[in-house]
Amino acid sequence: MEKVLRFVEEHLDEALQGLRELCRFPTVSAEGRAIEETAQYLAYRLEDLGFQASIVPKPGEGNPVVWAYQEGSSPRTLLFYNHYDVQPVDPLQEWATDPFDVVVRAGRIYGRGVSDNKGNIVARLLAIRAWREVEGGLPCGVKFCIEGDEEIGSPYMEEWVHSHRDLLEADACLWEGGGVSWDGRPYLALGVKGLLYVELSVRTLARDAHSSWGTVLPNAAWRLVWALASLKAPDERVLIPGFYDDVRPPTAEEEAAVASLPPEEEDTLKAYGCQRFLGDLKGHQVWRRHIFEPTATIDGLLSGYVGPGPKTVLPAQALAKMDFRLVPDQDPKDVLENLKRHLAAQGFTDVEVTALAQEHPARTPIDHPFVALVRQILREVYGKEPAMVPSMAGTGPLYPFVKGLALPVADIGIGYPDSRIHAPNENVRIEDFLQGAKAVARLMGALGSY
Ligand SMILES: [Zn+2]
Repeated sequence: MEKVLRFVEEHLDEALQGLRELCRFPTVSAEGRAIEETAQYLAYRLEDLGFQASIVPKPGEGNPVVWAYQEGSSPRTLLFYNHYDVQPVDPLQEWATDPFDVVVRAGRIYGRGVSDNKGNIVARLLAIRAWREVEGGLPCGVKFCIEGDEEIGSPYMEEWVHSHRDLLEADACLWEGGGVSWDGRPYLALGVKGLLYVELSVRTLARDAHSSWGTVLPNAAWRLVWALASLKAPDERVLIPGFYDDVRPPTAEEEAAVASLPPEEEDTLKAYGCQRFLGDLKGHQVWRRHIFEPTATIDGLLSGYVGPGPKTVLPAQALAKMDFRLVPDQDPKDVLENLKRHLAAQGFTDVEVTALAQEHPARTPIDHPFVALVRQILREVYGKEPAMVPSMAGTGPLYPFVKGLALPVADIGIGYPDSRIHAPNENVRIEDFLQGAKAVARLMGALGSY
């Protein structure tokens, strides 16, 4: 194992050269750029490392998945889920250097995708290369499933996983990648929230009216505001009947994990220029709410006149965008049904609800043996107790892997709190890149002899 780890350290420069090549593709899925080229390049890189690789289409408009497999010396197989697409680079003028031309400066690697998610792919490839060159092969079988539209919500991923179960058979799955805390503790995340994204629209009149008609004609903006107000109370409790019915209470072990997460409350308030959290939450109660509670969020509102000066108008139309972040075992379909039923029961039959996105929440049990294995590896590599995150506050297509394929899924990676993913000057620290590659190399070894 020591030789494999040394190989990782000694071949950093080649790995960075590979990262530079991969990041040169401007694979912005939101803009449909460089999708085919990036997929082909990755398949070629994987074949070069001894994989059997192919580019497998997704249904509909979905971007293809790069799939690859290589046997190992044990019957165990580790599946890597990653994505080759990246977020748009705007605002471009805030980048200190060209986002698609990776540069290394003061111990950091800068460029779009160096953290999310191309850097994680390359760190994993470095670990694989180390095993092959030092030991002549892999200690366990390895599969890659690298999708191309994660940054636009992974359309059709659930369907794709379902219809390619044979390609994805494995013993465990490493998710795309997290990182370390400010004090250098590695995060080990085990789940994601689900999502229901809806548009609420109201039309009360064929056209806008003079606002003097406020006496007797219905105003779409008021109708929408009242409808929205019926969804959540000022104490943050969602008022849709049945909303909390399927929320699975956290286990004692999950509670304990959250209670020992690094405190980041002050930094969060500072970053957002905010005085206090909702409900005046303090200490680990902030993390607790953030990780275990579902949300109902107004994302945008549109109605009437909002230009300069007054315009006395009675709007005929109003529109709101909303998302609900869901926790296990809430089902987006049920939440959508309950939302529609609630609005109708409250007399808002004029509010039309359109679902734009739905994803199930998912979580790997914290007491799963694979979680214990990853935790042990992280302790060895980082020399610190991992920060266990039962669920991330964000959403990703974990559900078909956890539920459909019954795989334990753990998320570890090369980022740190200032990696600026989705933002200008995305970066990773070289040290974290190396540690991340070593953690993967060790984990492959441990799984092989498991
Ligand atoms: Zn992302």
